[in-house]
Amino acid sequence: MNDSGFEFCDELGPEKVIHIHDAATGLKAILVVDNVAAGPSIGGTRMAPDVSLDECFRLARAMTLKNAAAGLPHGGGKSVIFADPRMPGADKERLIRAFAKAVGQITDYIPGPDMGTDETCMAWVKDTIGRAVGLPRDIGGIPLDEIGATGFGLAVAVDVAKDDCDLSLSGARVAIQGFGSVGQHAARFLAEKGARLVAASDSRGCLINSEGIDVAALMAWKASGKPVADYAEQHGGQPTHREAIIDVASDIWIPAARPDVINEANVHRLDTRLVVQGANIPFTAGAEKMLHEKGVLVVPDFIANAGGVICAAVEYHEGSESQAMNVIEEKIRYNTEQVLSRARAENLLPRESANIQARQRVLNAMALRRTY
Ligand code: NAD
Repeated sequence: MNDSGFEFCDELGPEKVIHIHDAATGLKAILVVDNVAAGPSIGGTRMAPDVSLDECFRLARAMTLKNAAAGLPHGGGKSVIFADPRMPGADKERLIRAFAKAVGQITDYIPGPDMGTDETCMAWVKDTIGRAVGLPRDIGGIPLDEIGATGFGLAVAVDVAKDDCDLSLSGARVAIQGFGSVGQHAARFLAEKGARLVAASDSRGCLINSEGIDVAALMAWKASGKPVADYAEQHGGQPTHREAIIDVASDIWIPAARPDVINEANVHRLDTRLVVQGANIPFTAGAEKMLHEKGVLVVPDFIANAGGVICAAVEYHEGSESQAMNVIEEKIRYNTEQVLSRARAENLLPRESANIQARQRVLNAMALRRTY
């Protein structure tokens, strides 16, 4: 049984595990369609030399739960291509098109971009089999990093969660770890709601200014390729090392960089009231539990950062950018409210509440389908 793919089977899936080999191009790939009860699965195509079946399954399951948690009419799937994404463009196109052709008949899987693939790759997939998400704007795509879909969703989650922390957004101090695409737009939308950015970090350092940082000016600074810490010399504030973001006193702390940045060893340094997770699994389970015991509210990643997947689903159904923002607002508001109210009523961690909600939605969808 081991390594066959059957070792992953449980009450949710996976429904199909497909190994692909194309001798003509040398393509080696795996597709896992985990669960399609709510609708055709959406999930990224990851390209890296060291991907594995295990990784593919775990990512497919994460997409099942993420799409269900977001309340989308889509199940979860994922695919991996065993190759170096930095290969010459023509070779990459040949490989991606061969992959697309191989999964063309698996109509309950819709590929999207992931590590090692981008919107151009998705345009090749769409051209080959007629479906993909994460497309270039020229062919109907919604550029989610440009419009700030995920950062917008984070700001909506903050707006809901603030009531549980007795927090007003007017003047609330915000600290953002990872002033990239997600972090910048989260800061922008929160500033529009009256909050004050007091610290931001990137891989090269941290900028702190308790008086408040001009978000638009710092975004322009980053767009010119300069690190956040260097902004201080011309515009005020204190430049420091990147780990200092953990110690900054804030009301709202947003991780938007890497996994596992807050763990049992450093969680005691966080001085905040509300954490809304932009990055995927930025905190260890132990750290989340310790924060819960301290009375810090943590809105988990797959509820708060679902703006990207919601945007992809709207794009797939041929919606516009403004429709995408409306759907993100509506779904993240509703889902955050549901997750937090169950957590309160049943004395659960918000992540436990979110997992129960997502799993229950998948099981409900399965009960409504004859094939299950
Ligand atoms: P990005 O590359 O645009 O930005 C990441 C930022 O984090 C960069 O500014 C980088 O310098 C900084 N960074 C890296 N390591 C750091 C560290 N140790 N300390 C502080 N800063 C650090 O990436 P992004 O698209 O903004 O994504 C950020 C995170 O959110 C990732 O974990 C990603 O998986 C997750 N996410 C992104 C989306 C999306 O729509 N882009 C959706 C869901 C989840």
